Amino acid sequence: MKFTAFLIKYAEIGIKGRNRHLFEDALIHQMKYALKKCEGKFLIHKTQGRIYVDAEGDFDYDEAVEQLRHVFGISGICPVVYVEDEGFEKLCDTVVSYVADVYPDRHKTFKVHARRARKNYPKESMEINMDLGETLLNAYPEMRVDVHDPDILLNIEIREKIYIYSKTIPGPGGMPVGTGGKAMLLLSGGIDSPVAGYMIAKRGVKIDAVYFHAPPYTSERAKQKVVDLARIVSRYAGPIYLHVINFTDIQLYIYEKCPHEELTIIMRRYMMRIAEHIAKETECLGLITGESIGQVASQTMNSLMATNEVCELPVYRPLIGFDKQEIVEVSEKIGAFETSIQPFEDCCTIFVAKHPVTKPNLNVIRRHERNLDEKIEELVKTALETDELIVVSDF
Ligand code: ATP
Ligand code: MG
Repeated sequence: MKFTAFLIKYAEIGIKGRNRHLFEDALIHQMKYALKKCEGKFLIHKTQGRIYVDAEGDFDYDEAVEQLRHVFGISGICPVVYVEDEGFEKLCDTVVSYVADVYPDRHKTFKVHARRARKNYPKESMEINMDLGETLLNAYPEMRVDVHDPDILLNIEIREKIYIYSKTIPGPGGMPVGTGGKAMLLLSGGIDSPVAGYMIAKRGVKIDAVYFHAPPYTSERAKQKVVDLARIVSRYAGPIYLHVINFTDIQLYIYEKCPHEELTIIMRRYMMRIAEHIAKETECLGLITGESIGQVASQTMNSLMATNEVCELPVYRPLIGFDKQEIVEVSEKIGAFETSIQPFEDCCTIFVAKHPVTKPNLNVIRRHERNLDEKIEELVKTALETDELIVVSDF
């Protein structure tokens, strides 16, 4: 028996009233984008508060499921079999063979749940439940009815056609991308920042990204790795506009003029300033980083305070309370880990001091930054001019 459609379940929370259609339209938009990547033609339609995907003709079932599993806002994907209404007896036969196909092991409890969207169907829902239940018990004596907590909830929807479904494949949850504005992700080649981008996108936020590249200290391979990571995040977040900024001269200048133990903090402050500049120009409503309290010297509370100080936009740090292992788990789940651990230097690791400050004093940092007064404005301007825009998508 072939599945020819999917019923899409989405979380109801936060989408009541006026916002509901915005949520649904954004979800449909993202689903269309995701399904474009797979073979087959799909028609997505809303009917009475439900979203269905109909496959027209042949399609790759596994691939379609895989794509839908990347669409935020979907809480469950139910594969559906459509059958023509050719009388109740025929329906009984179909349901018996559906169960045979979908459940090779039938030592299970079940419940039939019929709904009539078409009221002129000759049987009422309760009657359909009873009669189909009885048919199944006769066909498969190893099955049992459990109306409270069945292993199999067999849904029968009587519409123009009859829809049969019983399985729910979990979706990624969250909110459809595009319902929550846009933010700028500071994306490095590490484990944390792609996970941070994924988590904010999951809340419906569209993602742009900026990567600070420091050739020749960081290689083309390191840059390619960041593009690859952006592509992995874009499987969930949709196309990502990645800005690559040449940061070398700023880094060298800070190295020349400031105490080396403060290098990372001062560098991070310039990254934040530049990222914010691009964010404001591109209508982003905030910045996103992969920082987590205490992970490294530049992420102690004091250091975070120092990097935060230079920004006006809110800085979202979704990993702030995560342990490394918890971050790794998400990284593996989204398929980024293998790429993140490829051994190409990112620009922070080249210039790290042996003993970086862990409790930077803001006044001291500000004073040392003044050593940069002569050239830094010009260097930031030049760096912004190097902005190379790469549109990263999963196509
Ligand atoms: P990650 O695994 O994300 O690289 P990390 O543990 O290496 O994180 P840091 O190097 O201290 O941490 O960087 C903290 C955050 O600053 C990163 O999560 C990222 O958001 C941002 N960041 C660091 N380096 C860069 C870079 N070269 N380009 C863009 N953003 C960066
Ligand atoms: Mg890093």
